[in-house]
Amino acid sequence: WKNAPANLAQLLHASRAWGQREFTILEDDRVTFEANFRATAVLARALQAMGVAKGDRVALAMRNLNEWPVAFFAAVSIGAILVPLNAWWTAPELEYGISDSGAKILIVDAERCQRLAEHGAALPGVERVLVARGSAPLEGRFSALEAIIGRPSEWADLADKGLPEVAVGPDDDATIFYTSGTTGAPKGALGTHRNLATNILSGGYAAARSFLRRGELPPEPQPRKALTVIPLFHVTACSANLMGTMAAGNTLVFMRKWDTVQAMEIIERERVNITGGVPTIAWQLIEHPDRAKYDLSSIEAIAYGGAPAAPELVKRIHEEFGALPGNGWGMTETMATVTSHSSEDYLNRPSSAGPAVPVADIRILADDGVTELPRGEVGELYAKGPMIVKGYWNKPEATAATFLDGWVRTGDLARIDEEGFLYIVDRAKDMIIRGGENIYSVEVENALYEHPAVTDAALIGLPHRTLGEEPAAVVHLAPGSEASEAELQAWVRERLAGFKVPVAIRFVHETLPRNANGKILKKDLKGLFDDRLEAAA
Ligand code: ATP
Ligand code: MG
Repeated sequence: WKNAPANLAQLLHASRAWGQREFTILEDDRVTFEANFRATAVLARALQAMGVAKGDRVALAMRNLNEWPVAFFAAVSIGAILVPLNAWWTAPELEYGISDSGAKILIVDAERCQRLAEHGAALPGVERVLVARGSAPLEGRFSALEAIIGRPSEWADLADKGLPEVAVGPDDDATIFYTSGTTGAPKGALGTHRNLATNILSGGYAAARSFLRRGELPPEPQPRKALTVIPLFHVTACSANLMGTMAAGNTLVFMRKWDTVQAMEIIERERVNITGGVPTIAWQLIEHPDRAKYDLSSIEAIAYGGAPAAPELVKRIHEEFGALPGNGWGMTETMATVTSHSSEDYLNRPSSAGPAVPVADIRILADDGVTELPRGEVGELYAKGPMIVKGYWNKPEATAATFLDGWVRTGDLARIDEEGFLYIVDRAKDMIIRGGENIYSVEVENALYEHPAVTDAALIGLPHRTLGEEPAAVVHLAPGSEASEAELQAWVRERLAGFKVPVAIRFVHETLPRNANGKILKKDLKGLFDDRLEAAA
């Protein structure tokens, strides 16, 4: 990994070699690698002219627009720390991210700008706000991003000069990505240039390994199109998709908002080769009743991570798309990929998230946080490698509790098998302890998924006076299919020990509440069992 680019500006520079190839596509707006480079170089110089220096924070609150990578690389190229904010956040949440990071410059799309304005956000400390794709007149601190990167003639000379030269090393800070906030308030993970650049070494690893094991050489690299529906403000999309695409000369196809029919139209029109991101998206494509109306034959791989994926899904992707399924485990604190696998490796071990990539180490420790457990035993997962961030921004206590001696304490319960494949069984915070017996939600959810009528399932713990907790499930059934609570309980009882059978099952008509990263918001589901809890009280 010493050969990874020393900083992200080098990666941007190298991508210029792809010239007139398309880099990003959003509807009719198509940007080549060269145009992206020029826009980025101009914005980098403009940010410098606004007084942005090394270590200053530049916050970016934008959905997946072609301007996102431009803003990202412009800031990190001049040594600033880019703070991607979650575009689905409310105004107060956005304000939190802006003030927590101490951003000096804010780059937003028109929607975020309006959201903040309607809320009357004062944004102290923010000197300039650059607004992309806005229509309202802008004044004061606010100016249009297009006025800078819209390639007007007066900026063309600047673009010719290329990126400004700033000494930036691999261990300099580059980003503050916020965690998804699934288990508590989002925490800013402070990542370096090396942390992010390392991902380009891990990206192609799973595919390469399967070719090598079959004794074949990987095919000549062809530009590939990836439909990227995961927001770039999540580290997975930024590292696996954006960094990987720049390095390989591939194309990112964005869509304004996830919609299964629109996704199928785009796949057909653009001949998309790769998609996925999170397991939910793969399910929605598989189960759409009109799927046969679209030509989806260009799809070669559907890969995801970030949330537990049912083994059932792996089979369906292979059978119904003839595509290679892929899975990987990572967290914001690891700048995405730590383990990954695809094709036969994954088909043969559909409950695994793959082995560690060559630059990472993983281990399982007992509750004492010291004793390493033998292969096959479940304990807490720890990870180490050049992708692990230094710590949390402004949170010394959380940093001290999570980053230990180069290892990150993940909060995930997992086991590693004899071959080194990782199996995530639950988040430590979600594990249910029923009268002293551990119940891992992933195991019960997977048993439910195997039922032909079930398309989504979540297991949660309900408080119980003597047992401490007991398991309950929330499921979503495929349109037109039926299954009763008793039938699903019997189904689980046939497969798992009796104490793991949900004591109650609730059915929801909508899909389960998830955040933008595909994670079920389990804390929002407990309310469905209020009647039961009241009865018990
Ligand atoms: P917060 O830390 O704020 O509560 P979060 O942990 O959901 O939020 P992320 O960093 O986006 O924020 O997610 C990392 C978590 O996602 C991991 O700890 C793990 O629980 C889950 N995860 C990631 N990849 C996988 C995978 N392949 N299989 C199962 N779970 C996964
Ligand atoms: Mg987390």
